[in-house]
Amino acid sequence: MMYRGSQTVSTYVETPKANGEDIGQDREMTDDIFDTTYTEKEGPKPPRKIVWRNVILMSMLHIGALYGFFFIPAAKPATLLWAVVCFMLSALGVTAGAHRLWSHRSFKAKLPLRIFLAVSNTMAFQNDIFEWARDHRAHHKYSETDADPHNAMRGFFFSHIGWLLLRKHPDVIEKGKKLDLSDLYADKVVMFQRRHYKKLILVMCFIVPTVVPWYFWGESLYTAFYVPCLLRYALVLNATWLVNSAAHMYGNRPYDKNINPRENRFVALGAIGEGFHNYHHTFPYDYTASEFGIRYNLTTCFINLMCYFGLASDCKRVSKETIMARQLRTGDGSQRSG
Ligand SMILES: [Zn+2]
Ligand SMILES: [Zn+2]
Repeated sequence: MMYRGSQTVSTYVETPKANGEDIGQDREMTDDIFDTTYTEKEGPKPPRKIVWRNVILMSMLHIGALYGFFFIPAAKPATLLWAVVCFMLSALGVTAGAHRLWSHRSFKAKLPLRIFLAVSNTMAFQNDIFEWARDHRAHHKYSETDADPHNAMRGFFFSHIGWLLLRKHPDVIEKGKKLDLSDLYADKVVMFQRRHYKKLILVMCFIVPTVVPWYFWGESLYTAFYVPCLLRYALVLNATWLVNSAAHMYGNRPYDKNINPRENRFVALGAIGEGFHNYHHTFPYDYTASEFGIRYNLTTCFINLMCYFGLASDCKRVSKETIMARQLRTGDGSQRSG
């Protein structure tokens, strides 16, 4: 099939690098590299099964978040600032934490940073880190096939939110079980968050964002609940989902025109640096998830800051020569990102 394109294992075998940089072989795992050997099963697709509990919860959340907009004019400035802080923390817990650290192992993080990222990640409430990273590795390894949890070939709605409202395709479960997740099992922070996840999300995603403005600067509990809690939560969710939906459909493909993920600056802005998706699917082990480092990329700024403090290290980067060679070979001829 066309879209499965040239992001192949043989691509990497073609131009091996002495230091293993081409597939980031020196990471703790490489199970996020596209697998060309997988083929979708013949015959009719399994019937869709709606998970009504999730439909109801997601509907309630989004209605609550929309209602939250009406509380903004009456909110105290400190509350709005707090909502932004909560947005940034939750987003970093997903982008720097679940994504670049735990899914791709694109850099190393010391214990205090891993704890900070796990706490922030809990505030984002997007399933625990273990589950997020497992789904995300499957998304890269089986991109845009039945074994991709949010297969963008099933349309914008499915890849955005629909995949959370339906039972998983059997291939997602089957292939997910075979992924190398040993590094996640070995990470005590990840396993602790997974063991205590329900209690932790209650505290970090709902109680802390609501109680802090009420306790410290006398905000009304309603405003605190609807703005920094529900509205912030829904915004972070949708910003993340746009990477799976919009960044798989709209934008240019300077690195590999044979795959669907695109460079989308709008998504990069909302998802603090995660919109350079053609680059990211081509080079998933690059810690900046972009050719251009810190440009539109607060997540990279954060990781750089952590390196400065000695809390992060071993940041993987793709060399300019490798990028240019790849652009010449498989790019769509566009140079500008987004
Ligand atoms: Zn993707
Ligand atoms: Zn990724």
